Amino acid sequence: MGRDEVSRRRLLLGGAAMAGTAVLTGAFGTGAAWASGSPPIIDCAGWGARPNSDVVPVWNQRPVRILVHHTATPNVADLGRGAADQLARAIQNFHMDGRGWLDSGQHFTISRGGFVLEGRHRSLEVLRGGRQQVEGAHCTGQNVVAVGIENEGTYVGEDPPAQLWNRLREMCAYLCTQYGIPPTELYGHRDFKNTACPGDRLYGMIPRLRGEVAGMLGQRLEAWETQRASWPLLRRGDRGPVVGAAQYLLAAVGLLDGAPSGVFDTGTDAAVRRFQQLTAAEEINGLLGGESWPLLARTVHKGEGGAAEQAVLVLAAERGAESIPDTVDAAVWQRLLGTDGVPIAVVMDPVGPPR
Ligand SMILES: [Zn+2]
Repeated sequence: MGRDEVSRRRLLLGGAAMAGTAVLTGAFGTGAAWASGSPPIIDCAGWGARPNSDVVPVWNQRPVRILVHHTATPNVADLGRGAADQLARAIQNFHMDGRGWLDSGQHFTISRGGFVLEGRHRSLEVLRGGRQQVEGAHCTGQNVVAVGIENEGTYVGEDPPAQLWNRLREMCAYLCTQYGIPPTELYGHRDFKNTACPGDRLYGMIPRLRGEVAGMLGQRLEAWETQRASWPLLRRGDRGPVVGAAQYLLAAVGLLDGAPSGVFDTGTDAAVRRFQQLTAAEEINGLLGGESWPLLARTVHKGEGGAAEQAVLVLAAERGAESIPDTVDAAVWQRLLGTDGVPIAVVMDPVGPPR
């Protein structure tokens, strides 16, 4: 879920200016090995959508990635079509009446029973064409470049049902085919925002999703190729050297009261919230994720001294004898933090956060 459409009109102008620009050339086209085509998709009329309240912006460019969300709604036992339609209507009502958006924010919805539904109007028509992107409202900063799929349920401690998973794979494979999106370009909402979405369990399945979608497209990914560089999601209750490094970085900007302890406690939570306020984060929620990490993990130079270099040293110690470049930029941070797919010694303590 996202919340921001304030700059829609400005982006619309940008979209008009970009009309006619070249689209991305995909690694593969519609002639891919996977020949099953589109899964069945229920369009807006099919589930009884309200009309959108304003023009749906459509950009003359193809999306370059897919973002996986969960709806954070109950894991209902009703897997029928009626429940799927009801879910789509409830989300649309919430987004239009609660958020004030012009329509549903996500492009597509998948119910626990495996029904795929169009979210925002025109998303299906535009997908069929394979050349354009409906501007969504599912993740600020990604809405014109990423297709957003809302998966019904809450997957923090439970896996999605097979019906949902299978449809998600099919939908991703179809999107990849239509838009030339590499199957490695599937991400979770938390890769870009300070959010638990799409839940620890579903998020943990995204490398598998990349591999399975690749397989459906007749490609084969090695295990390491299914990993993509990103940032860890830290929150209260987490512990370990990654937390310690975050604390040193918060100390480096003067926001941490007390000494780094390696435990994400109430003081760390308060420091993260102050950082979120200072950086105008979308939400002030104490979650340190893909929105705040790139701002917090600034470039550090060897020998500069200070708390930011201490953050590097904490992680370097965990990694043993591996050499650390003299300049630690975002890519090096991701390697040190263990979120670039290379197995490392930095492990999040299984003592869990509040679920
Ligand atoms: Zn989300």
